[in-house]
Order: sequence, then structure tokens, then C-alpha cells
Amino acid sequence: MRVLVIEDEAAIARVIRRGLEQAHYRVDVAENGAQGLKMAMEGGYSLLILDLMLPGVDGWRICEELRSRRDRVPILMLTARSGLEDRVRGLEMGADDYLPKPFEFPELLARVRALIRRDKVHKTRHIRIADLEIDTAQRRVWRAGTEIALSHREYDLLEALAAHEGQVLTRETIQERVWMDEESYSNTVDVYIGLLRKKVDAGHAVKLIQTVRGAGYTLRRPEEDER
Ligand code: CA
Repeated sequence: MRVLVIEDEAAIARVIRRGLEQAHYRVDVAENGAQGLKMAMEGGYSLLILDLMLPGVDGWRICEELRSRRDRVPILMLTARSGLEDRVRGLEMGADDYLPKPFEFPELLARVRALIRRDKVHKTRHIRIADLEIDTAQRRVWRAGTEIALSHREYDLLEALAAHEGQVLTRETIQERVWMDEESYSNTVDVYIGLLRKKVDAGHAVKLIQTVRGAGYTLRRPEEDER
């Protein structure tokens, strides 16, 4: 796993590099903002450690630039001042976490590990079935590249089906998972399946949401039951 450290203070960069290398990360260091931004844009890093006060292009600018390019690499900001304003501004610009200087290395390492772990969880929570894509972290859905606007319930229902791709879920199971113990009418599931079909399947040759007579519903690629 590669980590990019953008830090102009050589002594701090050295401490971070040594510590992370001992923890088996591969570390690149950029000593100024312009170089750091260039390296970050080349990609391949699991995490960025970004100092705010840098000569030339500062940390905020780097963060803003990467996020405007839809680069979601986790960013840990190092803030020299403990001022709340710096932190808020950093988080607003898309940083994931911040660490005020001076810091102890174990604290930095703990943050690094947490951010990388969190990023992995997010990445694996991307469901793709045929041309249907679901980002469960953001609760967003696309079909053939076009985003579909779903209500809260419609989304929950779709995610429940998609998380069990190819398995038949009974109405009772769906009711329990999506509506929990709320009161709902006996045909609620069918009504919502109808709504979901209009949004997800209508206009597409391939119908992903399928009724299994007498059993319930399933979401799968149709070629699986044609064989
Ligand atoms: Ca600095």
C-alpha cells in the first residue's frame, strides 16, 4: 500500500516516512504543493497525508483540486494550528480527517489505518449487477450509467434484493427487512415492487426484478434463468 506524504518540513516528513515504512507502507514524500499535487494526480495511492501550510500550492488547494476531479483518495490533513476554522475548512474541502501538530506517531498511524480501512469498506460496498450499479455508502443508483432517483423505501427495497442477488426473497422477508416492525398493509411489498420496476426496469430490454410465482421476488441477470 502506497502513501503519499506532502510535507515541507523535512524533519516531520522523515518521522512519518520512517514510521510508516516500519508499518510496511510504501511512502513517497513531496516537499512542496505543486510537486505533491502532480504526484497525487498520477494516482495509485491508498492515502494522502497532507500538510496545510506549504510553499506554493497549499493543502486546501490540493484537496479542492483532487476532489473537483472526483478523486476520492482518503486525505488526512496535518493542521499546524489547532484552530477550529482550519479543520472545518479542511473537512469542507473534502479532507477525511485531520491531525493537529505536534502529534505522536502512533496517533498518526492509528488515523492512517482507520482511514484506509474505512475506504476499503466503502469500496466493497459498491454493488454491480448487469448494468445496474448501487453505491450503498451514498445510497445512489444507476442503470446503464443514468442515475435513478429513488425514495428512501424504494432504495431500501432495491438494496435488500441486490444484496441477495439471485436469491428469492419472500414478501415476509422483504417486509421484515425494509419495513422492520412498522405497520404496513399486506400488499405494500407488491406496490413498492411495482414502483421500483417503473424506475429500474421500464424502458430496458433486460428486466432485473423478477417475480417468482408463489415464492416472492428476486433480482438477477435474466440469462441465469434462461439456461
Ligand atoms: Ca508546512
